[in-house]
Amino acid sequence: MDNNKEQEEIKIRKMISEHVSHSQYMLNPDTKIVDRVVKGLVMRKIKYGYAYCPCRLVMGDIEKDKKIICPCVYHVEEIERDGECHCQLFVSAKKGEIHRT
Ligand code: SF4
Repeated sequence: MDNNKEQEEIKIRKMISEHVSHSQYMLNPDTKIVDRVVKGLVMRKIKYGYAYCPCRLVMGDIEKDKKIICPCVYHVEEIERDGECHCQLFVSAKKGEIHRT
């Protein structure tokens, strides 16, 4: 992994763990899913300058695209409804516990 990617991955993983510690949500216990989403976020950060959601379309409109910078504005509603965000990076505490058992 080149240095830039490594640095971005460190920052993104830090953002994710800070979000988890300040919210009621958990990181998906499936580390393969987490790694895949992190990789996508790193690629988007390098390409666009922002960690846009790797599971959504980037429109090219800064104002609209702000909504999909991770953690996106949609994740709260998605987790309340489905138990996980669209990318399955963040999950409800309940879903995280079910996965663990
Ligand atoms: S769907 Fe999940 S991974 Fe994608 S931006 Fe929203 S919170 Fe982040």
